[in-house]
Amino acid sequence: MNSDPEDLQFHTAETVDERPRCGGCGAVLAESFWQIQGVNVCGDCAAARKTGQDLPDSRQKFFRALVYGSGAALLGWAGWSAVEIATGFQIGLLAIGVGWLVGTAIRKGTGGHTSRKYQIMAVVLTYLAISMSFVPILINDLIKKKNAAAEQKQKASPEVTVRPSGPGMAAGLGMLVGLALVSPLLGAFFNFPMGLIGVFIVFLALQRAWLLTKPDEAEITGPFQIEPAG
Ligand SMILES: [Zn+2]
Repeated sequence: MNSDPEDLQFHTAETVDERPRCGGCGAVLAESFWQIQGVNVCGDCAAARKTGQDLPDSRQKFFRALVYGSGAALLGWAGWSAVEIATGFQIGLLAIGVGWLVGTAIRKGTGGHTSRKYQIMAVVLTYLAISMSFVPILINDLIKKKNAAAEQKQKASPEVTVRPSGPGMAAGLGMLVGLALVSPLLGAFFNFPMGLIGVFIVFLALQRAWLLTKPDEAEITGPFQIEPAG
């Protein structure tokens, strides 16, 4: 019987340190172990990682990823636009949030499968979500200016406004979308060098989406036998 608690703790700690443990779940490695990128892991962890790497792709997964990803992009677009209209700023952390949302949604859609194809999908949808915020922000601006102008006009003389219709409207809309797509770059060009912050923020968002859908290419080797100690 050992009645000294300090002595007992010392012994326990020593035992823990001596036995090799799995770098994934922390289980004690007995008899054999595997390696993932040089980290020793147990057979269960190696098998789980391998299963994740080997998840197959399918047309359904692609479609579901596209639907989930688009929904996330729409949500991100709305949130990003709303915050920028409300604050007048592009917030870097929020951009990472948009990239995270889109990347996570795509992974959900594929059930965890990742590949270059889904990385491209994630980056494109994230870019659309962020660049298209140009449209609501511009419209909000125009409404504000129009209201201000209308107020001044009312004081002078009432006038009939001419509305664009048909092909003019469609062309205008196409131009608006085109402008929105290059808006992050335009911002940097016309507001140099402060506009570069906007480009960097877009980069952060795309990077997050890209990394979240990155295929797991970790090398898994084993099993290796554990030599009985001493
Ligand atoms: Zn493990």
